[in-house]
Amino acid sequence: MAPVRNVLIIGAGGVGSAVTHKCAQHSDELGDICLASRTLSKCEHIVQTVVEKTNLKNPDAKLTVSQLDAKNTDAVAELITRNDSSLVLNAGSPHCNLAIIEACLRTGAHYLDTAVYEKEGDFNVAPPWYANNEWKHRGRFSAAGVTGILGIGFDPGAVNAFCAYVHKHLIDEIDSIDIMDVNAGDHGKYFATNFDPEVNLREIMEDVLYWENGQWLSIPCHSRSRSYDFPVVGEQKVYSMGHDELHSLSANIPARRMEFWMGFSDRYISVFNVLNRLGLLSGEAVDVEGVPVVPLKLLKAVLPDPASLAAGYTGEVCIGCLIKGRDQGREREVFIYSSCDHGDCYRDIGAQAISYTTAVPLVAAALLVARGDWNVGKLVNVEELDPDPFMALMPEVGLDWAVREA
Ligand code: NDP
Repeated sequence: MAPVRNVLIIGAGGVGSAVTHKCAQHSDELGDICLASRTLSKCEHIVQTVVEKTNLKNPDAKLTVSQLDAKNTDAVAELITRNDSSLVLNAGSPHCNLAIIEACLRTGAHYLDTAVYEKEGDFNVAPPWYANNEWKHRGRFSAAGVTGILGIGFDPGAVNAFCAYVHKHLIDEIDSIDIMDVNAGDHGKYFATNFDPEVNLREIMEDVLYWENGQWLSIPCHSRSRSYDFPVVGEQKVYSMGHDELHSLSANIPARRMEFWMGFSDRYISVFNVLNRLGLLSGEAVDVEGVPVVPLKLLKAVLPDPASLAAGYTGEVCIGCLIKGRDQGREREVFIYSSCDHGDCYRDIGAQAISYTTAVPLVAAALLVARGDWNVGKLVNVEELDPDPFMALMPEVGLDWAVREA
């Protein structure tokens, strides 16, 4: 498998910024770093903050920026070649995934992303989501010996590794997996999303898909909730929600039921419901005095930029997997999780915790590809890889994890 020289990061949002800082902190292993996005000034600003925070570990590593339309395969391939990048970290909009994958296959660069591909305007897509696009390229990745790791942020990402770790070491016969994500932080805004509003709000309003007894079941959004007493953030209400990781875990880890749950405040739910009822979450263009306007895009334009939430964000997040089953016949229940504090993330790399928790697993995976442990020369989801080197490395890159036994 081709070794890793230089890294190309695509996307200069909250996640792209955090990824750039974390790559810079590991530039002794990852080589030169190029950050490319649609808006050059955002890339320039991020690089300036890396320099200000003295996060570039290897002073000889080059940290450059480039304007890029990541939906243009030719442009992505040209940039990969120009920078001699052998690893592409896709932290951009999931609408760009397929064009970037194509460029990686063309140039032989390894590919890592954090979210499943979405076509603009798609809604309630048939499961399993990865089968509709990404998995169709498995044969091409294997034939070219190119490594592709899909969905390696936190959720999807670290949680997939958590499930693989529990299955390998703690519970050999899994009955249920409940992945739960709670942000108990406060950004001080009336309403904001923690990552790309267009992606985030659409995924929340879709019908919920969960996996039970070998089939997908569907319920309306926010129609099912539960309370759970989390480590660090305490008792929290979470809502069942459709999410990427179930669409690979259901194929790769045997379990009777798998479900994803996310915490929302009462304020968030009521504002969301009003926006939804008014049609302001729609991805369909409406005519505004002769100009076609997509309400969701307009909303994105007026909501706070997720990256701007970082300064002043307080409180903690806790994300983990509650896994029940039997190990060698003995009933067992574990909650495997990470938690982190928004303020700590800001002090480290100027990010809020959602961007931070996405970037750390992505950069840990990049390092594992560079070291060879995860340079597998094929297209995989995270739980298909050996979780042990990842679990060992994640704290070093910036996120601890723990197991709470019931
Ligand atoms: P943002 O919206 O803040 O950033 C997305 C970035 O992609 C922007 O900088 C944007 O460009 C860039 N972009 C969009 N279209 C293009 C294009 N055609 N060409 C080049 N650049 C483009 O989102 P986040 O940073 O918050 O999230 C990034 C990704 O991370 C999303 O896919 C999200 O789903 C995923 N994510 C995954 C998580 C996980 O745990 N797995 C958690 C959180 C997010 P510009 O600003 O330069 O105009």
